[in-house]
Amino acid sequence: MTTETLSFGADVSRLLDIVAHALYSNRDVFLRELISNAADACDRLRYEAITKPYLTVDDPSFKVRIYRDPRTRILTVVDNGIGMNREELIKNLGTIAWSGTAAVMEQLGQSSSPQDKLSLIGQFGVGFYASFMVSTRVKVVSRKAGEDQTWVWESDGKTGFTVREAAPDEAKQLIAGRGAAINLTIDDNSSEYLLEEKLRMVVIQYSDHIDIPIFLGRGDGTDADNGAAQIPVNKASALWMRSRNDINDEQYVEFYHHIGHGMDKPMMTSHWHAEGKIEYTALLFVPTLRPWDLYDPGRKNATRLYVKRVFITDQCDGLMYPWLRFMRGVIDTEDLPLNISREMLQHNPVIQKIRTSVAKRILGDLDKLAQDNPMQYGAFWGQFGAVLKEGLYDAPEHRTDLLKVARFHSTEKADGLVSLTDYASRMKPEQEHIYYISGENIDNLRNSPQIEGFKARGIEVLLFTDTIDDFWLQSVLDYEGKAFKSVTKGDVDLSKFNVPANDQTEEKKQEPSKDESLRRLLVIIQETLKDDIGEVRYSHRLTSSPACLVAAENEVDLRMERVLRVHQKYETPSKRILEINPDHALIRRMASLAKAGSTGEDMADAAHLLLDQARIIQGEPIPDPADFARRLSYFMEKSLAA
Ligand code: ADP
Repeated sequence: MTTETLSFGADVSRLLDIVAHALYSNRDVFLRELISNAADACDRLRYEAITKPYLTVDDPSFKVRIYRDPRTRILTVVDNGIGMNREELIKNLGTIAWSGTAAVMEQLGQSSSPQDKLSLIGQFGVGFYASFMVSTRVKVVSRKAGEDQTWVWESDGKTGFTVREAAPDEAKQLIAGRGAAINLTIDDNSSEYLLEEKLRMVVIQYSDHIDIPIFLGRGDGTDADNGAAQIPVNKASALWMRSRNDINDEQYVEFYHHIGHGMDKPMMTSHWHAEGKIEYTALLFVPTLRPWDLYDPGRKNATRLYVKRVFITDQCDGLMYPWLRFMRGVIDTEDLPLNISREMLQHNPVIQKIRTSVAKRILGDLDKLAQDNPMQYGAFWGQFGAVLKEGLYDAPEHRTDLLKVARFHSTEKADGLVSLTDYASRMKPEQEHIYYISGENIDNLRNSPQIEGFKARGIEVLLFTDTIDDFWLQSVLDYEGKAFKSVTKGDVDLSKFNVPANDQTEEKKQEPSKDESLRRLLVIIQETLKDDIGEVRYSHRLTSSPACLVAAENEVDLRMERVLRVHQKYETPSKRILEINPDHALIRRMASLAKAGSTGEDMADAAHLLLDQARIIQGEPIPDPADFARRLSYFMEKSLAA
């Protein structure tokens, strides 16, 4: 019998190191992970057996058995699920097959508290490796259902593992000759896991909802037939099929941990049974924390599909909208045949109906959460709002409901979020548009010159900071008939809005077009900057800044252009409009110089500086920083010398 020695993948080694040193705060989870894996393995075989009934003919009743042997200090978790062959043992237990692992590892290295680490690890399933928190050696005996060789995988959780064919007495560990037996040699600090009471408690606490019976026994399994071991420790019925009244919060949380592999608590739990055109039961959770792979294009849908209590897949693309991809949970329907192939699912009309119905329900529940607990909803929105907003252009049929639950930063609130309903209720009688400004940073947006005139008139401006905002705004044109309008695009006529009586700045205003010196200044700036900008005009939106940039009505908005440039979909930058503030002291000074006939270098330098500072405020690069510095130094020198 040959024994192969192999090394762990680099990620596994690092993970094991962390597991060994940092996770001692909650060691019970190792058992939960092992039972979870065992139950998943049973689920997978149950599905396979629908089309290949011979796979389970020897023993059609799935189960998990946990044995303890205080004498040898070995704790064993056995299942009669799908099992693993040699290649699968090497791949599944020797590497971490997920592209985002490196990023998570990075985070793990940085975060300090064990709780942080635990929750991070939970997000991509430390799973099996948690065994090394309590044991010095792990031996996995496994045989894949339908195959005839049994294999042994063994490791001390340090550098690597060995794989060999099982000896006949080792193979006997398996129930009905298939599945897996995980044998842990419990270390000296973890003796409690060799006590029946402890094991019973952990199983009840963490695995009561598992719908496969879990039995506790002693020794090498020889007491499997005695009366005590015939009664499962857990309830062994699918949690989602129980009535809501029979499930307590803790059980929901444990179930969430089981299916979501998360360590956080669910922020929202929705559990309902739908009857009528389609019949299904759903138990869905919104996580508290954002999963690491939320934006990973390869990320699969995490919601599990069951048909009549049989697990079908957790990779059903059409089951949930992509903008609800952060949800975890189970959907179980009566309306699909059990033997439906996974490939047929995505375009199945039943799946599509469930998707629509689930989205409607979840959006309704989110709206309710927003009303009942705005604080918590704000936290939810911070984590998942940007994802939900994808639905605004992706799913027009849910747009109304999505706009209802959408929240935004606003000039009306220094912190906290507003809804569009709030915004609409504060609109001025003569106001036709919902005004917004879009940019990367909320503080910069609040200080943007383009919103000065709005603030002075008490007109609320929404502040959009998610890249996605610029995209959904292309397809969502209005909210309840009020069109969205960017304050950095096109001309805005604020003259119809009254300025509060105590604002002196407005009184001085006169129509710039009637002022000869201002007219001349405009011509000079236009001429000087003709290669850089499309137009110069006097502004209605500025009150305290001298200048700002805006986009023409028919051009792409400023932020959108930056986004497109990053994604290289936009080569020639469009020419912007430079708006200048006729009431600003600097502009007035320039105007009087223009009137006096000055067209020289100073004027040109000042015009360039105006444009460059507008660019800087906008967060845009200055094309020629050296020129900018030269001009600035020149003016500084002059003013300091004066
Ligand atoms: P996860 O369960 O999050 O995928 P694990 O490290 O716990 O991560 O397990 C890795 C893989 O090993 C599982 O995805 C599964 O394919 C396989 N596996 C683990 N335990 C069992 C088992 N008892 N029976 C069959 N396969 C298993």
